[in-house]
Amino acid sequence: MLCDPEPQRACLRIPRSVWDRVNEHCRQEKPREACGLLAGRGGVVSRAIPLPNVSPSPERAYLADPEYLYRALRDLEELGEEMLAIYHSHPGGPPALSARDLEQAFWPGVVQLVVSLAGPEPEARGYLLPDGAVAREPDPVDVSVMNDTARQTSEM
Ligand SMILES: [Zn+2]
Repeated sequence: MLCDPEPQRACLRIPRSVWDRVNEHCRQEKPREACGLLAGRGGVVSRAIPLPNVSPSPERAYLADPEYLYRALRDLEELGEEMLAIYHSHPGGPPALSARDLEQAFWPGVVQLVVSLAGPEPEARGYLLPDGAVAREPDPVDVSVMNDTARQTSEM
């Protein structure tokens, strides 16, 4: 999950079509938070897996439906894919991890991608949490959207 020219920084490459799918899902769920997984290999996403948000307060929090999550993870294993990221939306807030997000970010090595719908355009930021750290200061991740055909990347 490392990419040049900053080899110390994890990265996430999202094809345009997958990014569009994530945005569509987040917009559909507004004013509720949307959540889902990004699957792929080596930091390059191949598909998005939207999951139902079953939080009792879905406008302020997310909780992926455990049954859907289990099925999604089983599919990933069968297909030999990795869970690269967990995404969720902030319908009216910034693309930063909230205190609650940090509490429930317990998947080591999986990028937490937050999609903010507060501005005119959706804005996403990715974070990685160090394994087992007590003072959990999230590291920013390079997130970029690439054209499906040209495989060119553009910074977000
Ligand atoms: Zn959040």
